[in-house]
Amino acid sequence: MGQRSSATHHRDLRTGIPLWLANGRPRVPVSNPDSLPKRVDVAVIGSGITGAMLADALTAVGFSVVVLDRRLPCSGSTPASTALLQFEIDTPLIVLGRKIGVENARRAWLRSLKAVDDLSRRVAELRIECDFKRRSAIYLPGNVLDVAGLKSELAARQKIGLPSELLDRDELRRLTGIAKPAALISTGGAEVDPVKLAAGLLRRASARGASIFAPIDVADVAPCRTGVTVTMADGRGVDARFVVFATGYEVPKGVPLTGHKIISTWTIATAPQPDRLWPGRELIWEAADPYLYIRTTADGRVLAGGEDEDFSDADQRDALIATKTATLQRKLKRLFPDLDMTPEYRWAGSFGESATGLPSIGAVPRMKGCYAVLGYGGNGITFSMMAAQIIQRTLCGITDPDADLFGLSA
Ligand SMILES: Cc1cc2nc3c(=O)[nH]c(=O)nc-3n(C[C@H](O)[C@H](O)[C@H](O)COP(=O)(O)OP(=O)(O)OC[C@H]3O[C@@H](n4cnc5c(N)ncnc54)[C@H](O)[C@@H]3O)c2cc1C
Repeated sequence: MGQRSSATHHRDLRTGIPLWLANGRPRVPVSNPDSLPKRVDVAVIGSGITGAMLADALTAVGFSVVVLDRRLPCSGSTPASTALLQFEIDTPLIVLGRKIGVENARRAWLRSLKAVDDLSRRVAELRIECDFKRRSAIYLPGNVLDVAGLKSELAARQKIGLPSELLDRDELRRLTGIAKPAALISTGGAEVDPVKLAAGLLRRASARGASIFAPIDVADVAPCRTGVTVTMADGRGVDARFVVFATGYEVPKGVPLTGHKIISTWTIATAPQPDRLWPGRELIWEAADPYLYIRTTADGRVLAGGEDEDFSDADQRDALIATKTATLQRKLKRLFPDLDMTPEYRWAGSFGESATGLPSIGAVPRMKGCYAVLGYGGNGITFSMMAAQIIQRTLCGITDPDADLFGLSA
């Protein structure tokens, strides 16, 4: 707290034009900075998918909200996302059970399943056009879980009622053409255009009275008599009862990071080839490290990402774009020899990892009135939904039954 330059670390979040911005920027109403109110219930910092979900959830229960972003709306990591919406957490249930206890792992996985369902309902309720489609997900064996490991994972999932089944070699080949000895298939997933979703939620929140200010850099947050004073880099200020940092991989200064890491990841999208895709268009991912995840898009492209590396330096990341996209292309070709995997789009970005694969959501220790959402992991968007629900309840004075799983440690 108190650093004058900015309340969060700056980061070069992504390079290249992601598919979702190919047709230009999303339409989001932005207010004139001169109309910044003196007082508000909640200041949400960040207008990506997390800030958008928070703005929706908080205005829905009657809070007055401002959304503040140093970039234009939906211009951070959100457009880089491949936006597979999975309840399946990066850390397998059997592994998570060993890390945080079987009962806590059960609660985390079930909450994740509920979050995708709740998001699906919310998108339908608000009639947001964002190419949201329910999809099953196929989990291929790899160096993290081999076929025996997948079977153990399946037993643990089925024991707690998760909607997963085993596919044998023939079933997998029939569904996807992929030649592997077995895989898991789970219902309960979805895919979306993350920019259309975030922009749609921001528009709905704006219609309920939220004001979006961008670009405006939050320089400082400090306690005041009525809550928290949020000071912008240009000296403007707003007093809020609560502040929520939804700042993605630009981590708030003063927020403790335990087991969180910013790493790098790469993505490609092919040209549309709708008539050649696997018929069920399942989401596909590997129990491997580095992993590969694959989906299709509304216009019939193959979209894939992965090849993560353990560093966050943007120059180093960008220097590897050609090599990494060639590797992704080669791996895709191995799975789908008949598809054209030539990239029409390719981009690279920062990505977040946590020691458990779970997000951190909740009150920031020693920063009264401040909350943060670190939705790190391959399920960032699913976690944003969980975060919006948990923070909404918390600010309403209601205890969310799963909040204790995700709290920020001191
Ligand atoms: C390549 C890639 C693939 C991914 N694939 C998936 C996937 O398949 N499924 C999935 O669920 N998740 C995926 N993720 C993760 C997911 O995209 C992220 O979790 C999500 O986009 C983060 O959204 P956010 O709103 O928290 O952050 P952002 O979109 O980065 O928004 C945060 C905003 O905060 C603003 N900000 C920061 N500091 C300040 C400040 N001091 N003042 C004002 N504004 C500030 C920034 O300008 C930024 O716009 C992927 C991510 C990447 C990069």
